[in-house]
Amino acid sequence: MKTLTRAHRGSAPRRIVIVGGGYAGFYTAWQLEKRLRPGEATVTVVDPLPYMTYQPFLPEVLAGSIEARHAVISLRRHLRRTRVVNGAVTSIDHDRRTAYVHLTGGGEVPLEYDEVVVTAGSITRTFPVPGIPDEAIGLKRIEEAVAIRDTLLSSLDIAADLPPGPDRDRLLTVTFVGGGFAGVEGFAELLSLARAVARKRYRIDPAELRFHLVEAAGRILPEVSPSVSVWVAKRLTHKGAAVHLGTTVTSVCDGVVDLSSGERFESGLIVWTAGIAANPVIAKRTDLPTNARGLIVVRPDLQVGTDEAPVPGAWAAGDAAAVPDLAVGGSAVTVPNAQHAVRQGKRLAKNLAAVTRGRRTRPYRHGSLGVIATLGLGDGVFESGPVVLKGFLAWVVHRGYHVLAIPTWERKLRVLAVWGLGAFLGRDIVSLRSVQQPGYGFRHEGQVWYPDTRRRESEELRAAK
Ligand SMILES: Cc1cc2nc3c(=O)[nH]c(=O)nc-3n(C[C@H](O)[C@H](O)[C@H](O)COP(=O)(O)OP(=O)(O)OC[C@H]3O[C@@H](n4cnc5c(N)ncnc54)[C@H](O)[C@@H]3O)c2cc1C
Repeated sequence: MKTLTRAHRGSAPRRIVIVGGGYAGFYTAWQLEKRLRPGEATVTVVDPLPYMTYQPFLPEVLAGSIEARHAVISLRRHLRRTRVVNGAVTSIDHDRRTAYVHLTGGGEVPLEYDEVVVTAGSITRTFPVPGIPDEAIGLKRIEEAVAIRDTLLSSLDIAADLPPGPDRDRLLTVTFVGGGFAGVEGFAELLSLARAVARKRYRIDPAELRFHLVEAAGRILPEVSPSVSVWVAKRLTHKGAAVHLGTTVTSVCDGVVDLSSGERFESGLIVWTAGIAANPVIAKRTDLPTNARGLIVVRPDLQVGTDEAPVPGAWAAGDAAAVPDLAVGGSAVTVPNAQHAVRQGKRLAKNLAAVTRGRRTRPYRHGSLGVIATLGLGDGVFESGPVVLKGFLAWVVHRGYHVLAIPTWERKLRVLAVWGLGAFLGRDIVSLRSVQQPGYGFRHEGQVWYPDTRRRESEELRAAK
């Protein structure tokens, strides 16, 4: 593919800045470290987080099958030749080849570059549903996964000592909003954890657990065929869940969930997984071309722009980019998933290294390998073309695929070790929710913060008004 960027062999090292060290950004930097010769270029990754999150493992973090720290990969440990800057890019002025970074430690600094790689991913899509910002937890970050797990376990801890009644019912009620991939996997894993431990560890009858999955569309898992989607919904129902299709959540104020169907219930845990939206920094604060959805327009070789109007020195990949899907053709762009983000990161690095040496780039092309989802310990579903696997075999394929896919041997081994130990020792059910309030004891005469404190405090506040 023709590129407008000239070769720079023999000149000063190219300054490459990667905005976002998630899937696509991490793989771009990792590959560049392998491909670039010393002195050819300097690579800087900017991310407010010091780690890349292996998001497909978040549902298993909810279930306690994977240690939270094992689902993230330290940028500083694994990107040894890359400079890691802890901060968020607030805007990109590509005309001036400058990204502005708000450092996590405070202050805004300009970062000049020759090549910018935009891999800042997406954000959780929200709708103006009253109560969501105060009551709901998302499922995109490791901290959110830990908070969901700890909230459930704390709820079980508290409910175990309560008599039957509204307080106990509320604590044993969990609501997931959004039946896409992340929502269904997270929901199924949490349900699996709750059912497995309720009777044995808390003396709670699993029949008391109320798990609601609310989906606005007429089906869950739009990525799979309709018959597989129906099968998954039935499977969840069979496990005791309520799947509300064609239903929206209209309010969750004070933990009271109102559905468009008129149903209303109190819920001790509300998880918001209603899809993703364009990263606002990318959509609004760069002079790079974006489409109507706020995604960066790129050519098939991942250089920003179009064949007619390429933007030299700018590249993008992953959820933040509208990458032409050559395997599908037409105007299709690749779906936002890890399968693509990883491969796009690698292709981008190869193309960037090629351009640095005055060579031609190659287009990104990847046909989907299929869809695989966990539905709780020992259960899953896999679909690739006409091949469908359900149940235990699909779950084994799921674990096998992901342990191979998580970057670095160090992480693979840690995950495998915890899976292996879990098979013999069972699930770990301690909630460390009080880490959210480490100073509580100092402020309240040595008392221990417990999860319902927040609710009590807000009730007291309301009463005082
Ligand atoms: C729960 C869950 C389960 C999933 N399961 C699967 C699965 O099984 N299979 C699959 O293929 N896909 C799965 N996905 C989707 C997949 O994880 C994403 O598509 C993939 O992470 C996208 O990669 P990315 O590099 O574009 O973005 P990300 O991996 O999200 O990385 C973006 C990075 O940019 C950083 N960033 C954001 N804003 C800025 C800024 N202003 N400045 C600097 N840095 C910034 C972020 O901190 C982050 O580190 C799942 C997603 C979720 C949430």
